[in-house]
Amino acid sequence: MADCFLIFGGTFDPPHRAHVELPALVAETLGCDRIIYIPAATNPLKRDDPPTDAEHRLAMLRLALRERPRTVVSTIELERGGVSYFVDTLHSLCSDVGSDVELRFLIGADQALQFGRWKDAGEILRLATPAVMLRPPWTDASFRAALAGAHGEDEADRWMAWTVPAPLIDVSATELRDRLRAGGDVSEMLDPAVAAYIREHGLYGL
Ligand code: ATP
Repeated sequence: MADCFLIFGGTFDPPHRAHVELPALVAETLGCDRIIYIPAATNPLKRDDPPTDAEHRLAMLRLALRERPRTVVSTIELERGGVSYFVDTLHSLCSDVGSDVELRFLIGADQALQFGRWKDAGEILRLATPAVMLRPPWTDASFRAALAGAHGEDEADRWMAWTVPAPLIDVSATELRDRLRAGGDVSEMLDPAVAAYIREHGLYGL
């Protein structure tokens, strides 16, 4: 059987529990041999909100993944700099891995609903197949209804078929940053080593 790599792009500002736990479960379900995390330099859909320095996001991601087997962090988008268009990343990965490797790319339900805004969305789907993680507040039924409302029944069927069963984890980096700034408890959402890194470097207003 051909190898399968699961590509997981994000801002990881900071990397939280869902970023670490869900990809491993999805990789297991899909039979993917490797998970490639790709932190973005600048997310095209979050340009108005500059992320934490790449050096810190990369260090936190490496810490969060330190005990995860078959997992690598790629700096391809950080090295390229500028706005990180996934289509460019995918072209590079395809030529690096060759045609014997199947590429799946992992996105949350929120991103799946916005997928039409991604640059060259059709080209991305030609090169790789999505794997979608449901994310609160979405349930199977409400996600399907939102897809059908926005893109029609056929597209809803297609995206639902790409949705991989996994537990719902109700956490977002936005909520985490807000809680950190407010001095709230983040122990349920964050790896202790990442929390220590945040404190040591005074990130997110700490
Ligand atoms: P922010 O709140 O700053 O927008 P985020 O928590 O969505 O950040 P990202 O780094 O932007 O984190 O997410 C990377 C990918 O992980 C996206 O495809 C996103 O949909 C997905 N994702 C993030 N959190 C979850 C979650 N709790 N459940 C499922 N998918 C998630």
